[in-house]
Amino acid sequence: MEITELRPSLYMVRVEFGQLYLWRDGDAVTLVDTGVPGSAAAIAEALASLGLAPSAVERIVITHGHEDHAGAAEEVRSWHGAPVHVHEADAPFVTGETPRPEPVVTEFDAHLWEQISSLGLASTPPTTVDVLLHEGDELDFGGGARVLSIPGHTPGSVAVYLPEPRVLFTGDTIGTTPDGVVILGVFNQDEDQQLESFHRMAALDVETACIGHGGPVVTGAAVDPGNISTADRVVAILGVAVGVFSADQVVDETTNPLGPA
Ligand SMILES: [Zn+2]
Ligand SMILES: [Zn+2]
Repeated sequence: MEITELRPSLYMVRVEFGQLYLWRDGDAVTLVDTGVPGSAAAIAEALASLGLAPSAVERIVITHGHEDHAGAAEEVRSWHGAPVHVHEADAPFVTGETPRPEPVVTEFDAHLWEQISSLGLASTPPTTVDVLLHEGDELDFGGGARVLSIPGHTPGSVAVYLPEPRVLFTGDTIGTTPDGVVILGVFNQDEDQQLESFHRMAALDVETACIGHGGPVVTGAAVDPGNISTADRVVAILGVAVGVFSADQVVDETTNPLGPA
């Protein structure tokens, strides 16, 4: 377990596989994702490092139904019944009602998919979903959190946006390369939909984007040029990833996918 404070109230917690985010309003905690099955002990350890008991967890918000995000939700819920929130389109995969669909593995994804598949990650155990999320829902943390339905990576992927601190939890719809370049996330159900969702998030005013895997992406005044690519490079790599931009368009594109520069 490794916990990093990203800004006041916001922590990134790395667990055995993957990562999750912890938002703290005083002694009340919202977890965004939970890591793979078996991560609850690491989450308890993260809470303890902040001087908080497991009972501090007020809600569990799952960005999408993959096992590295929803995997430990039932374990954490079993502590004291903190409600698990999942979009209605991914809920059946989390409850176990229907098997989760395999992603469409593209040429771009294939090598990484082989590596991930060889890890043999455990599937999410049947998990109680207490709250079905929908586009436009508001959740009571971080000064008011807005739920955005962003299908593509999975049908029920959500982003959670906190307008006041300008924090966005993106789930796996956005990814980064090991050197921090922003790309469209990998292992998706529908990349056309996902690209639309990506651009929808890009239009938001965001300072800290908490992505599904890898370090957070920080924009605006806090840009670290060593850590985030130029808009052109972002769009170029995004274009390569999904094959939608011609070279000319890439040169002309000036939009930063993560919002105003
Ligand atoms: Zn995923
Ligand atoms: Zn993931």
